[in-house]
Amino acid sequence: MKDKISKKKYDKLYKKVRNSSFLGTVLSFSLLMILFVGIMVFNSIFFLEYVFESKFAEEHRRLSMVSDMRDHHGDPLEMEEFYKENDISFYVRDDQGTTLMQRGDDTCTFEGGVINMTEEQEHFLVYLDEEENYFYVKGNHLKPKWDELVSWILEHWKDDESIKELKLPFWISMEHEDKGEVFVGKAYLTLNVHDMILVAEIGAVILILAVFVLILTVVNIITGIHKMNNVIRLYHHDPVTNGYNWTWYQKSGDKRIRGVFTKKSNWASVNLMLRNYRSYCVCHSVESGEALLSRIYEVLEERTEKKELCAHVTSSNFALLLKYEDEDHLKMRLHEIMNELSKVEERHNLSFRAGIALIPGVVSGSEEASDRKKLQIKDIYNNACAAGSMVKDTVNSGLYVFDDKLLEEQKWRDIVHEKRNGALTNEEYKVYYQPKYNPKDDTLRGAEALIRWESPEYGFITPGRFIPIFESDGFITEIDHYMLKHVARDQKTWLSEGFQCVPVSVNVSRAHFSERDLAEQIRDIVDAEGCPHELIEIELTESAFFDDKDTMVETIKRLKTYGFVVSMDDFGAGYSSLNSLKDMPLDVLKLDAEFFRGEFDGDRGEVVVSEAIKLAKSLKMRTVAEGVEDKKQVDFLAEQGCDMIQGFYYAKPMPKDEYESRMNGQNNLA
Ligand code: C2E
Ligand code: MG
Ligand code: MG
Repeated sequence: MKDKISKKKYDKLYKKVRNSSFLGTVLSFSLLMILFVGIMVFNSIFFLEYVFESKFAEEHRRLSMVSDMRDHHGDPLEMEEFYKENDISFYVRDDQGTTLMQRGDDTCTFEGGVINMTEEQEHFLVYLDEEENYFYVKGNHLKPKWDELVSWILEHWKDDESIKELKLPFWISMEHEDKGEVFVGKAYLTLNVHDMILVAEIGAVILILAVFVLILTVVNIITGIHKMNNVIRLYHHDPVTNGYNWTWYQKSGDKRIRGVFTKKSNWASVNLMLRNYRSYCVCHSVESGEALLSRIYEVLEERTEKKELCAHVTSSNFALLLKYEDEDHLKMRLHEIMNELSKVEERHNLSFRAGIALIPGVVSGSEEASDRKKLQIKDIYNNACAAGSMVKDTVNSGLYVFDDKLLEEQKWRDIVHEKRNGALTNEEYKVYYQPKYNPKDDTLRGAEALIRWESPEYGFITPGRFIPIFESDGFITEIDHYMLKHVARDQKTWLSEGFQCVPVSVNVSRAHFSERDLAEQIRDIVDAEGCPHELIEIELTESAFFDDKDTMVETIKRLKTYGFVVSMDDFGAGYSSLNSLKDMPLDVLKLDAEFFRGEFDGDRGEVVVSEAIKLAKSLKMRTVAEGVEDKKQVDFLAEQGCDMIQGFYYAKPMPKDEYESRMNGQNNLA
């Protein structure tokens, strides 16, 4: 199976497809936008810095020239004239900051910082101007006050005189190291409206492009969400009912039962199953079966309220998650739902079964609340299914609530499944013998082999706790072979040791009767141990007689030709098997223990037993009465001509060595 993928991988793949339809586009567009805006902003800053630096360099050169001229020009009067004409302002200060000379404006704040010019690779001390200040110093940079600049542009951009200038003043400090003086000159960053509009245009272009990419991103997010929803819908879609599927139920169910608010409510996970769905499909086609499931889903969907869940799981199974106030109310609601569902198909009265697992609400912060976080809806739904399987198979719809007893039963069933093979290999199953006595003279006439499980872990286990499990899972065939082999072996040993052996009956489950060579299998097992056939009796339970009758008659006949005694166990229990007696050439009739329970004294009970014995006699069958516990019953049975009694009055099932002492030479009761 090359294409098989694990559940984990499947979930991963789903997330990948889901996210790629959303995150993929959103991420790529967001990255593109960030990249684009980043590049634009970086280029603009670079460009603006370049403009500023070149203007700064120009001003620096101009003021250096003034400073040089002041140093080298001989005539102070001419210089004064020059300062005035060219509107030059400066300070000359000594090392201590004392002003030695000042010309023009004296508006320097002497507050600022060192800035470096990348082009010149030089550091300059720059001060702000106190009157018209469009700058501030941040770190090593003069930063323009954009709001003031923008308001200036807005004020002037309509002006015809487009050359109108904005002079942004600041002061550059230059040291004369040889003289120990500092020259601080007033510089201007001159911007005209054109410059400013250019800056504004760059900003606007960046903005427009950013908005464009943003719109693209938003469009992509919306289509991404749409695609993602489609993927999610597909993943959670059930093609049969057009509703939700099991995956959705699990995901949403886990959220509901663990949710901060929802975990306070009582929830019930319900497995609702339409019975006989397969036979409906056989009679009407799978397509009509699926249409029926779809209609059932619609009703369920209508009947579920806000926050409650409904999904189609497999075949005719539906999973519900319902809120409830009290258990009786929930049961009533489910009965109503099943009642409505039973009428979904006009021509058929549909029957449903519901298994319920309750999840009582928890108080926030309590211990139960932290346990609730670990709960998984699939486990709870599984409990609901287990509860569903307990509903009796009748024509009427029914329900069952998962309880501790069922939990214990399921756990025990699991242990039995786990341990059964090891127990067989380790011979933990023991043969117990329950003697059968002749009530007339109390002599030992036979015995029944009954299994017991002596488990080193779980102690002594009676057959009622594991035989029904083995019957349902088919392991009973192994057990019956095992018992037959051990009984045959014991009989052979006792024979060779000189015991006066009596026939021992072995139970053979109905599960065997589908095997056409059953008689040969029994013969071969007994022969392998070297045990004479007449010492083995085969007990068939009454329920076995409802299987394939012809095969059964054939098997009984063959067993008899091989020399085995064949008996009918539990005659009278459950349905009457009088009819089986007609066709089955049986040797022994074992009257069920139920005949001797309760008020046996009553005439009716006695009449039935005596008539059953008479019937057996006329069919040339011997009778064994099972479950006889008191003397009165023994006397009555002896009187009626019952051949053997197997009951606690004489003996309980006992281990091999105890049974040996019963046989020990004299078969009479000690
Ligand atoms: P069963 O074959 O009808 O066996 C008779 C049961 O009645 C035995 O129960 C026995 O202990 C019980 N019994 C006999 N006399 C009395 C009595 O006077 N009073 C009461 N209260 N009970 C009495 P056990 O041994 O528990 O077996 C129960 C059932 O389990 C058997 O019913 C049989 O159907 C099944 N079983 C036991 N061993 C085997 C086996 O090796 N193979 C198969 N297929 N089934 C077995
Ligand atoms: Mg039996
Ligand atoms: Mg019986």
